[in-house]
Amino acid sequence: MFETDLHAHSSFSNCGLHSIIEMLTKARDMGLKGQAITDHGPYLGRKTSSTFFNRLDNPVEGIILFKGMECNVVDVDGSIDIIKKFMPYYDVVLLGFHNFKVKDAEPAYYSQIMTAALKANPCVDIIVHPNAPHYMMDFGLIAEAATETGTVVELNNAKTMLGRSSQQQTIELIEACKSAGCSVTVSTDAHALNEVGNHQVIENLLEKTGFPIERVVNRTFESTMQWIESRRTRRAEYYKLSK
Ligand SMILES: [Zn+2]
Ligand SMILES: [Zn+2]
Repeated sequence: MFETDLHAHSSFSNCGLHSIIEMLTKARDMGLKGQAITDHGPYLGRKTSSTFFNRLDNPVEGIILFKGMECNVVDVDGSIDIIKKFMPYYDVVLLGFHNFKVKDAEPAYYSQIMTAALKANPCVDIIVHPNAPHYMMDFGLIAEAATETGTVVELNNAKTMLGRSSQQQTIELIEACKSAGCSVTVSTDAHALNEVGNHQVIENLLEKTGFPIERVVNRTFESTMQWIESRRTRRAEYYKLSK
């Protein structure tokens, strides 16, 4: 079992059903020590709240809240929809493709745009669901880009559990990460209470493929905290942030 989760949605996302408090309470009850709330960026209609970022402080006893955003690539040049004013408060910044369909685009095309986005936006920590069906990336290219930029590839439990990515595709993604030497996160991408804390499908595939567990950043609470601290420091230096 992984002790933290770095990707989940509350009702601040159009697709999320439950409140931040409900999500955190369930995560704690499932045995997690830290849970990120990463609602979608404004491109997907996020309900923006400054209060969440600069006033809410670990509202549920027994679990640490990580504050994040699942940002969107919004242009082929690699522009993203991050809300810059919250930059000092992000524990984790995710980036993925949503509503970005380009007709007949090959996986290499999405990998190239993502790579450009990572280089242009060093605030990004995690490349989410490279195995999403409509924006399938070239796994080899994206794992190499992660290694090169120091970002992390997400292994998304929901995408595989719900059959949006086949087990075989997910195995290929894991193998690509293994070869490229990048780190990964195992995320629930929970949109509802019944998905909170569920990393099981990916956990099984990691075991099956013999993926080195020390390269899973959220394997323990300590490894997660260490990684978040290093990313926060990096972000603060690059963007000259102070709270
Ligand atoms: Zn997503
Ligand atoms: Zn998501």
